[in-house]
Amino acid sequence: MASVGGSKNNERRGLMFVLSSPSGAGKTTLSRMLLDKMPGMKLSVSVTTRAKRPGEVDGKDYRFIDKAAFDAMAKKGELLEFATVFDHHYGTPRGPVEAALGGGEDVLFDIDWQGTQQLREKARDDVVSVFILPPSAADLEKRLHTRAQDSDSVIAGRMSRASHELSHWAEYDYVVTNSDIDTAYAEVATILKAERLKRERQTGLSAFVRDLQKQLAK
Ligand code: 5GP
Repeated sequence: MASVGGSKNNERRGLMFVLSSPSGAGKTTLSRMLLDKMPGMKLSVSVTTRAKRPGEVDGKDYRFIDKAAFDAMAKKGELLEFATVFDHHYGTPRGPVEAALGGGEDVLFDIDWQGTQQLREKARDDVVSVFILPPSAADLEKRLHTRAQDSDSVIAGRMSRASHELSHWAEYDYVVTNSDIDTAYAEVATILKAERLKRERQTGLSAFVRDLQKQLAK
C-alpha cells in the first residue's frame, strides 16, 4: 500500500455492512461470496433460539442457544441488537463486533430490519445498509422450495412475512435486486468498495497528505 515518509494511507475505520431481505432473496449466498472474496471483512455470528437446520454449523452460521441463555445475554447488555423473527429470538453478540471494528475490520451483518434500525440508532455513521429484493414473488417461492430446509408450512409462513419485510426497503441506504447472483454480488461489492473509500473512513489520510506535501515542498 502506498506510503510516503512513513505515513500510510491504508488506515481506516471499520464499517458495519448490513444485508437484509426477505428469506430466500439470496442474502445468505451474497454474504458468503463477500466473505470469500473481500478481504478485511468478518461475519457477525448471531445467537438464535431457533432450531438448527440441516447443514448448519453451530458457531459458524449461528450460535444456537436456549431462551434462558438468550435472555441472560440481553439482560447483561451483551447483545448489540436483538429481535423476534418468526417467533424465534435473534441477536448480535456485542464483543466480536467491537473487537473487529477496533482492529480496523469491517463486519458483515445478516439481520432483519428491526436489528438494522437498532444498529443505525447506535452507530449511524458506521452503518452501511443494503436491502436485497427478489426479482418476483414466484422467484422467491421457488428459492424457498429449492433450499428445501423448511417444511411447506414454514415456507408458507415465510412467504406471508415477505411482504411485511419488503415494506422496510426505503429505510436502507442501497437496494439491489437479485435477478442474477453474480450481477447482484458485483453490485454489493461495488457498494462496499465505494463506502470503504469514503474520506471520513480513511483515518490515515491527513497524515499521508501532510507527508506528501512535505515531500513536494522539498
Ligand atoms: P433464518 O432463521 O432464516 O436464518 O433468519 C430469519 C431472519 O432473521 C433473517 O431475516 C435474518 O436476517 C434475521 N436475523 C438473523 N440473525 C439476526 C440477528 O442477530 N438480529 C436480527 N435482528 N435479525 C437476525
